[in-house]
Amino acid sequence: AVAAALLGLPAGLVRVDVLAQAMRSARSRCDNAAELDQAYASLQNDLDAQQVVQWCLDDCVWRVDTHPLRESGHKGRVWLFQDITAQVRLERVLRMEANHDPLTGLFNRRAFFDRAQVAFQQLPEGANDAHRCALVMFDIDHFKRINDLHGHPVGDQVLREVAHRAKSILREGDVLARYGGEEFIVLLSAACKEDARAAAERMRTVMDAQPVQLDGQAITVSISVGLALRRDEAETLQRTIERADANLYRAKREGRNRVVDEED
Ligand code: GH3
Ligand code: MG
Ligand code: MG
Repeated sequence: AVAAALLGLPAGLVRVDVLAQAMRSARSRCDNAAELDQAYASLQNDLDAQQVVQWCLDDCVWRVDTHPLRESGHKGRVWLFQDITAQVRLERVLRMEANHDPLTGLFNRRAFFDRAQVAFQQLPEGANDAHRCALVMFDIDHFKRINDLHGHPVGDQVLREVAHRAKSILREGDVLARYGGEEFIVLLSAACKEDARAAAERMRTVMDAQPVQLDGQAITVSISVGLALRRDEAETLQRTIERADANLYRAKREGRNRVVDEED
């Protein structure tokens, strides 16, 4: 009955050509129709082939299992349709929660490490010495004051706005994450020194260029930024992070609202 509803047929016995036509039609309406065509091409000439694939149709996901049936000399195929939409959605939500910070929607620290680790292992095509991974770490200046002055919920809104502004100046392929309370990290992949510096400086200026407007109040926000370019292929992610962090610390000490990128 489940399969009948999916295929738009009455439940019960259906002529094989009608069934085949209904299946082809449903398949062609799937979001992943091309992929399914490919997957099923191998079944054409091979009665023994068996397969489990997912059909994505009308916001639903079906697990479609086909295997050969040999009974009293007849050759045929059994098709099992199972609606796994709820399960797939739940998995998606869980994955989302495992990788993202709920307040800002950015990647969390763990998701950042996963991605940065991969980027550190493989340099993009055509990358050379002048194009290295770079890390930008930044921390909101005197954020405690913002909380104390305006309250924690406003502080939360400021964090969201900072995340939003940070995202707005980055390029596709950059990885931005909330690293801790009011500290963020960005991986710029295959950046040259000048690009990395420019990105770090853009990050600083986008924050203090105009105050954050919340509940009719204008809240001035600035950040301190530490930048580090990966020295060479031998340098670990951990080490580059330490150097970016040391530079961030210097930016704080030297007066905040600035970028520090000197090599130590
Ligand atoms: P500095 O310029 O040296 O960075 O000063 P700061 O006040 O920003 O640094 P400090 O580490 O003293 O304070 C950070 C504050 O950020 C303390 C903490 O309560 C607050 N904070 C951390 N996470 C959140 C959050 O999710 N929401 C809000 N509203 N505040 C947070
Ligand atoms: Mg701070
Ligand atoms: Mg901090």
